[in-house]
Amino acid sequence: MKEEKYDVVVVGAGPAGSITAKTAAEKGLDVLLIERNAEIGVPVKCGEGVSKEIERFVDVDPRLICAVFKGHTTYGPDGTKVTLSVDDEGEIGYVLERRLFDKFLAQEAARAGAEVRVRTRAYGIIREEGYVKGVYANSAGEDIRISADVVVGADGVESRVGRWSGIDTRLRLADVATCAQFLMCDIEFNREYCEIFVGEEIAPGGYAWIFPKGGDGANVGIGIGGDVSCENHRASDYLKAFVNDRFPDGEVIAKMYGAVPLSGPVYETVANGLILVGDAARHVNPFTGGGILYAMQGGAIAGDVIANAVHEKNFSKRRLMEYEKRWRKEFGKVLDVGLKIKNTVLSLSTQDQNKFFHALAGGIRTKGFTERTLLKEVIKKNPRLLFSLARMMF
Ligand SMILES: Cc1cc2nc3c(=O)[nH]c(=O)nc-3n(C[C@H](O)[C@H](O)[C@H](O)COP(=O)(O)OP(=O)(O)OC[C@H]3O[C@@H](n4cnc5c(N)ncnc54)[C@H](O)[C@@H]3O)c2cc1C
Repeated sequence: MKEEKYDVVVVGAGPAGSITAKTAAEKGLDVLLIERNAEIGVPVKCGEGVSKEIERFVDVDPRLICAVFKGHTTYGPDGTKVTLSVDDEGEIGYVLERRLFDKFLAQEAARAGAEVRVRTRAYGIIREEGYVKGVYANSAGEDIRISADVVVGADGVESRVGRWSGIDTRLRLADVATCAQFLMCDIEFNREYCEIFVGEEIAPGGYAWIFPKGGDGANVGIGIGGDVSCENHRASDYLKAFVNDRFPDGEVIAKMYGAVPLSGPVYETVANGLILVGDAARHVNPFTGGGILYAMQGGAIAGDVIANAVHEKNFSKRRLMEYEKRWRKEFGKVLDVGLKIKNTVLSLSTQDQNKFFHALAGGIRTKGFTERTLLKEVIKKNPRLLFSLARMMF
């Protein structure tokens, strides 16, 4: 079997993997980024909405943006409308073209010095004396033994790297949203706001969304709880019903199906010689289902910590725990609070969900927008329901 050696091998070229690879390569490390698919960013499995906070991590080229939006409009089960916007009515986020965005991030990693290899699938890990020491991969038909001081599991929701290394990343059905999404055109919708629809009838255990994609196009999708999905009641069935009801004359340009981990972060995201980032670490806000920002934020922290570990030649779990401490400090609380809010809202009867939305009716206006401000406002306006959460968050 062919043998190769790097400081770091990153498995998966989504946002988490590419930012990890870029950050580590910028700090002088010898990095290999592998992707099982032939084309990075394809197939797209995402609603592609992201807040402007993304600019903290990357300069977003306008060519990677399909639409900008001024806020979110959410409809409760009885149709109660809650609009979230900012004081100056400015734009708060983008709907990306992930097909291009993911490629752009991988290019950034390559420009920083990382080697990027597509059609290369990791199928096992190398273990030596209690340490993860690399991966076995198949690259366009050829088996390779890739040794590395640190392996990064950036292999998304289906992640296996963590499990191979002994970290329990299993997800309960109730902790996964199964999703279906159509890229539609020739439809009428609010082009300035992302719209979200909540309710058992539309999307049990989840929600439906319409995210503008530019002009008369939009990502129209539905995510439902994995535990409620069954024959004739799959996300695709609910999506067809939603689309037939709202856009009977619209055209479907593309269809996609995927899953979002809504469990909150895995208990441990590091082991000797191993770090998990992005969806593999379950770094998704369980309330909003958004994971792009956390994948990038976690990736930047991971790349930095790995660089320090390589310079110190210390790849122990103890050394790599710096990554865990830093992501918990930067966004751990937001994910924890998101999980509590999701569990609270899902445990409510339809009647109480309506009350939840009534409390927010009239809308939420904030100075600036971050996921943190959104959760804070939701909590503030539902003091009785979410009293306990407020103490956690502030
Ligand atoms: C329907 C849907 C809608 C969503 N909408 C939004 C949204 O609007 N906003 C938002 O912020 N988030 C959204 N998300 C979540 C978001 O897409 C993820 O959180 C984000 O992509 C995570 O990035 P990642 O790099 O961790 O994983 P991914 O983007 O999934 O990348 C993982 C990569 O690893 C590769 N890979 C897997 N196994 C291997 C292997 N063995 N060897 C080599 N490569 C491998 C995969 O091919 C993939 O390219 C949505 C998700 C879904 C499913």
